[in-house]
Amino acid sequence: MDYDELLKRGLKKVPEKIEGKERFEMPRMRAEISGSRTTMTNFSEVASIFRREPNHLMKFMLKELATKGSISGGRLEVQGNFSEEMVNRKLDLYAKTYVACPECGKHDTKLQKERGFDFIKCEVCGARSTASKI
Ligand SMILES: [Zn+2]
Repeated sequence: MDYDELLKRGLKKVPEKIEGKERFEMPRMRAEISGSRTTMTNFSEVASIFRREPNHLMKFMLKELATKGSISGGRLEVQGNFSEEMVNRKLDLYAKTYVACPECGKHDTKLQKERGFDFIKCEVCGARSTASKI
């Protein structure tokens, strides 16, 4: 086996390591600008990594970007031009506010609705924290 082959094998092993339960890999949104619109092409994939309903993430994105848009075929298309960097800054904010447990910082959480309030329930430490409405 030559060096290139070893290198390829090494690279292939990386994702398996990151997928370990205790380490959460922050997803990155892909944003494509076309004309006067921006499409987040892996939108529902990102929402499912966070284990959040795409509609919840959409509401957040639309509010933060102060625009309008809709989900179609797993993609979110919004009005206006937004760079991938800007979209991902908002995504980081979403993760911090609606996914990460405020107590232990882990991302293994669920969003629960109760009597009109949203709660972040942590599956790691069991903490339940209120989440503000979008
Ligand atoms: Zn926790």
